[in-house]
Amino acid sequence: MTAGIYASRLGLETLLITKGFGGQIAKKAVFIENYPGFEKISGQDLVQKMEKQLKIQKIDIEIDEVRKVEKKGDDFLLSTRNKKEHQAKAVILASGSDPRPLEVPGEKEFIGKGVSYCSVCDGPLFKDKIVAIAGGGNAGFETAIFLTKIAKKIYILEYGEEVKAFEANQRIAGESGKIDVFTNVAIKEIKGEKFVKSIIYEDRKTKKEKVLDVDGIFIEVGYQPATSYVKGLVDFNERDEIKVEFETCQTKTLGLFAAGDLNIGPFKQIVTAAGEGAKAALAAYNYIQKL
Ligand SMILES: Cc1cc2nc3c(=O)[nH]c(=O)nc-3n(C[C@H](O)[C@H](O)[C@H](O)COP(=O)(O)OP(=O)(O)OC[C@H]3O[C@@H](n4cnc5c(N)ncnc54)[C@H](O)[C@@H]3O)c2cc1C
Repeated sequence: MTAGIYASRLGLETLLITKGFGGQIAKKAVFIENYPGFEKISGQDLVQKMEKQLKIQKIDIEIDEVRKVEKKGDDFLLSTRNKKEHQAKAVILASGSDPRPLEVPGEKEFIGKGVSYCSVCDGPLFKDKIVAIAGGGNAGFETAIFLTKIAKKIYILEYGEEVKAFEANQRIAGESGKIDVFTNVAIKEIKGEKFVKSIIYEDRKTKKEKVLDVDGIFIEVGYQPATSYVKGLVDFNERDEIKVEFETCQTKTLGLFAAGDLNIGPFKQIVTAAGEGAKAALAAYNYIQKL
């Protein structure tokens, strides 16, 4: 959205193609307190404000998914899920990251039937229910804290010896009286009939297999960059994040820029993603001027 705001304000004929607005911010379960200009704002409110600012610009917006980017001479060709083709002089990739799946039996089968990757979207469906959260990082704890207002009981299941969430999140979770944290948990299977009924896991210390009866599970085990559609045009690191020049967010292909969470930068934040979006649009403008 930031790249879109900058590119259109620079007078570039700009098309923004997105699967939807908000990305990870829209999934944020607790308030955002570190985006400058807002002491405390919900993810949904921040997204709405950005979207409003974007839509008052002179910009074309299409809700679609880019499936392939190719370079033909000086031009780029983008093909989409809706079988559309778009030509561009410069392209800014800003497709962020998608939730990483657990990859256990039952996970895919029960998506929407108790398995969720978004507590803000699906949390209200678990009123007075028992839920598990896979992952004891900040995302897992924030999800658990958010769900204390809805669910009856919450289990955080962490694979490692210790949880990785900030102290503050651990403290708030502890004070809620609704959250139990289990460490050394290797989830083996999600079971159910029409909906999720239980989780089978191995206690990695005792090597014993256990059953936890739950009505649902939120998967919070990290994110993977959404970069598969640009293979060949960019260089990746070992985590499939795109390598860019620091100054311009330029990839190895001239005219192809990348901004935000899909980049190699170690700090995945809204303000850094927005900053890179601005940088990439300004660099794209300079590139097009030179062309
Ligand atoms: C639970 C959680 C809490 C967080 N809390 C904070 C916080 O408090 N403060 C903070 O600064 N950061 C926080 N973050 C991190 C922050 O949300 C991200 O750094 C930021 O959203 C990255 O923005 P992005 O635009 O690069 O990617 P994303 O937010 O992932 O957005 C990518 C967009 O691209 C779209 N897209 C993907 N693939 C395609 C495609 N092929 N074609 C078209 N469109 C596509 C997606 O639909 C999405 O709209 C949090 C993240 C999570 C998951």
